[in-house]
Amino acid sequence: MSLVVQKFGGTSVADIGRIKHVADLVARSRRAGDTVLVVLSAMSGETDRLVKLAHEVAECPDEREMDMLLSTGERVTIALLAMALRSLGFDARSYTGRQVGIITDSMHTKARIERIAAERIQAALDKGIIPVVAGFQGINEQNDVTTLGRGGSDLTAVALAAALKADRCIIYTDVDGVYTADPNVVPAARRQDKVSYEEMLELASLGAKVLQSRSVEFAAKYGVPVVVKSTFVEGRGTLVTKEDRDMEQVVVSGVTGDRNQAKVTFIGVPDKPGIAARIFGAIGAANILVDMIIQNVSQGDLTDLSFTIPRADLPKAVDLAKRIAKDIGAKSVEVKDQIAKVSLVGVGMRSHSGVAGRMFETLAREGINIMMISTSEIKISCVIEEKSMEQAIRSLHQAFGLEKG
Ligand code: ADP
Ligand code: ASP
Ligand code: MG
Repeated sequence: MSLVVQKFGGTSVADIGRIKHVADLVARSRRAGDTVLVVLSAMSGETDRLVKLAHEVAECPDEREMDMLLSTGERVTIALLAMALRSLGFDARSYTGRQVGIITDSMHTKARIERIAAERIQAALDKGIIPVVAGFQGINEQNDVTTLGRGGSDLTAVALAAALKADRCIIYTDVDGVYTADPNVVPAARRQDKVSYEEMLELASLGAKVLQSRSVEFAAKYGVPVVVKSTFVEGRGTLVTKEDRDMEQVVVSGVTGDRNQAKVTFIGVPDKPGIAARIFGAIGAANILVDMIIQNVSQGDLTDLSFTIPRADLPKAVDLAKRIAKDIGAKSVEVKDQIAKVSLVGVGMRSHSGVAGRMFETLAREGINIMMISTSEIKISCVIEEKSMEQAIRSLHQAFGLEKG
């Protein structure tokens, strides 16, 4: 008998018909002899709807209140699924993040899980109950509700699987696995049987939202086997697991794009020691995550310095950048938000050369200008105009021979 955590995303619980279908899937696993713990998202579109409501009330909503609001979406689906399972004759019970003991830090809207007091949920499982847990939420040490960042139900599922030493964590969604590119953008994309934690982490952090990146980090740290499957069609799905030799043979395993990007440029910055520290010290202190940084060769004793940040942080960053510019004596600040990042990921890049050259050639052939480049051992990313993102993904996918065979 195995212990399986099954997580269903927003589209899988989008209406009553789908909730009943999920109940049937859970029932099937139980009848096959598995012990099952279910984690759910809110109905699709619900979290976006709540965010919109908040912005109708306040320009910059208080983050504690935001979490109180956002955590309600998942309460609706867990109660409905528990009812559906009970009407099939199972002893199912819904639990909020607080009730399953998910303790986080106090970074409202993007809290990190600190520990899980899993005794209550373990006791429920021992009694044969099917726990149906609200994803995406926890509480901090002050007992305030927190949320785990968008897509955070994946993290709830993986973290519970780790805490309960589950045999596997199945992420049920609207695609039947992890593909070589978003199948909704590249119809010729191929499903992969296996992806390494490391590749999946890069893909997820670089925009492939099929798994939340923190959930992959957590799965890798605790060695949780994660399977991505479809709620709607049967299939083997994709196993996210430790790297093996076969994986290294593949140079590029995925292409991904991320629109959630904005670029800030300081123009005419004095080129002297301590300036970068002052800029990025202040940006970091405001909790804005900087991704790529480029400093131009200086002309005279002035230089230009650009960096990218999440687009949602742009309003906060602009105000701050203007203050910093005054402080350090920079001439001006320029902002561009219609940008996107396209990336190639693959553990095979460690042992194969020429990937960057082929990537740049492909983009050049498409007439796409590269504004910034960054690389790591297993990925290459280019910042380009947002309007060219899908064209770039499709042409790279083709250039690296990733289509269905
Ligand atoms: P859920 O609501 O179930 O959490 P998400 O919308 O968060 O689902 O994630 C599933 C979506 O991820 C798919 O519909 C697909 O468009 C997108 N996606 C992006 N990149 C990939 C990829 N490489 N493989 C599979 N799906 C991807
Ligand atoms: N409902 C949350 C969101 O839309 C969490 C999730 O679905 O994973 O981001
Ligand atoms: Mg998701």
